[in-house]
Amino acid sequence: MLKPVRVRYAPSPTGLPHVGNIRTAFFNWLFARHSGGKFIVRIEDTDVARTVHGATEGILQGLKWLGIDWDEGPEKGGDFGPYFQSQRLEIYWRMSAQLVERGQAYYCHCSSERLEQMRAMQTANKQPTGYDRHCRDLGLGAAPGAVIRFKTPLEGSTSLHDAIRGDVTFENSTLDDFVLLKSDGYPTYHLASIIDDHMMQISHVLRAEEWLSSTPKHLMLYNTFGFTPPIFAHLPIILGNDRSKLSKRHGAVSILEYEEQGYLPEAMMNFLALLGWSLDDKSELFSCDELIQNFSIERISQTSAIFNNDKLNWMNGLYMRKLAPDEFVHRAVPFLEKRLPPGVSRPLNLDYVKKVLPLVHERVKTLGEVASRELTGFFFTDEIDYALSLLIDKHLELQKTQEILETASEKLSALTLFDTAALEALLRPLADEMGIKAGQLFSTLRTAVTGLSATPPLFQTMEVLGKAVCLKRIDQAIAKIKDLC
Ligand code: GLU
Ligand code: ZN
Repeated sequence: MLKPVRVRYAPSPTGLPHVGNIRTAFFNWLFARHSGGKFIVRIEDTDVARTVHGATEGILQGLKWLGIDWDEGPEKGGDFGPYFQSQRLEIYWRMSAQLVERGQAYYCHCSSERLEQMRAMQTANKQPTGYDRHCRDLGLGAAPGAVIRFKTPLEGSTSLHDAIRGDVTFENSTLDDFVLLKSDGYPTYHLASIIDDHMMQISHVLRAEEWLSSTPKHLMLYNTFGFTPPIFAHLPIILGNDRSKLSKRHGAVSILEYEEQGYLPEAMMNFLALLGWSLDDKSELFSCDELIQNFSIERISQTSAIFNNDKLNWMNGLYMRKLAPDEFVHRAVPFLEKRLPPGVSRPLNLDYVKKVLPLVHERVKTLGEVASRELTGFFFTDEIDYALSLLIDKHLELQKTQEILETASEKLSALTLFDTAALEALLRPLADEMGIKAGQLFSTLRTAVTGLSATPPLFQTMEVLGKAVCLKRIDQAIAKIKDLC
């Protein structure tokens, strides 16, 4: 009978949730959801020195933002939290002691000085570094500072069938007697990981390729304990555009940075799914449901995945434009609240925001951009600041520009209905009357009312800004010119 699918995401809380690491979580989650199985989160906090305060919260927040939920864990205030290995220490003590009793592991009393000397000698003699098995047959007991090491078989080989990579074989002689339990009482990753995978009845281990070399150690342990190993699938490594390992140099690497910059979780999901998985050679856009429906380990590639920022931006823009207008407003408002300059009074007037945002919806690639000066700043700030050169069309005299603005101001003041249609009906003929091109009139007005040379359509922009603001800004532009003369 086939074992029910149970998979886990097992991050170490040593820093920000790296996108590559979150990709591992996501693949496990997709596989669980696809198979009707269970997805477990297990925090591997066994390296006390490397544990970073707040890292677990960051990881969980990243998962929540993407909508990756987990199915079980210890009770925590009516809810259930993830598992923490630090809360399971007794289990690891018991299990490692058992191996010592059976002669399959042993206490090692070697001091760190001795181990250092040993390593220095090995390096000097150009030998591979590794524990020299000094204590292996001494039959030592527990003692302060002692560790428990595994009695690695000296000969033979260990093979695994990786669901992505096929058969992989390691020579046992290349492995030393690695530590199972450290002197601080915490287990090593190897020990804790296989005990937990066994006890939590994990059926498939999907993890990054960098863990492949640890797998023979794990298989030896499974074998020694008499546990059945799970199915292993090592996910391809993620590289930056220049084909080096994805790092800070390539831009944001923490999933939380993407959240903060205003990427859409559904776009991020779609993008992450394609880092190592594909349905065919051409489909690129998948909703979460489609991913769940189509995900399979067979379609995970062996070759490294490239994290292409341009592609992510393109994809995010696409998802942004697909948002219904109301939904776009709903998601963008928190970004406006947070990012507009402090001088803009809060809370923002929602009716006004609802008029502004549709004008820029087509142009934004991330939610974070909605508050940028270039895009919407002039809708919210009182003062707009621009260089006079922007106001003066290069084919027009200063004098002429002033005249245009004065005439426009006069005519606009007389408008009772200040909407797009009325503005268009008034301003188009005005250019002819004044003997200039429509484009010249519009760009002069655009600069005067927004301070920018590229904005959403002028008449709509003016309608949203309203008559009073437009007139005030045109007057300020006139004053700017007069100041100069
Ligand atoms: N704690 C390991 C990590 O940080 C888990 C590796 C595994 O999935 O076995 O990625
Ligand atoms: Zn020793």
